[in-house]
Amino acid sequence: MTPPKNIRLFKDEKVVEFEWDETLIKKIRFFDLRNLCPCATCINEFTGKKMLDPSTIPEDIFPKEMGFSGNYALKFHWSDGHHTGIYTWDHLKKVCVAAL
Ligand SMILES: [Zn+2]
Repeated sequence: MTPPKNIRLFKDEKVVEFEWDETLIKKIRFFDLRNLCPCATCINEFTGKKMLDPSTIPEDIFPKEMGFSGNYALKFHWSDGHHTGIYTWDHLKKVCVAAL
């Protein structure tokens, strides 16, 4: 799985921009990224059922830290204290394609 060419954080716009190639550059809201957390607390790993209630996410959520997990994923430390999500390139690309 190929990583994005560029990842940029826009704090004022409250988005992360992912550049995959010339045709796929997408800004994803912090809120949506938090909401799409793929960790076992947010998604039941056996059934795939979403466990996270979006109404519990603060509207003004932001990443306190963003870093790489190996060479296959991004991880965020969110302002609500949540930090267990490993956002693989595959997952992030699907999010970007779905957001077009
Ligand atoms: Zn999570």
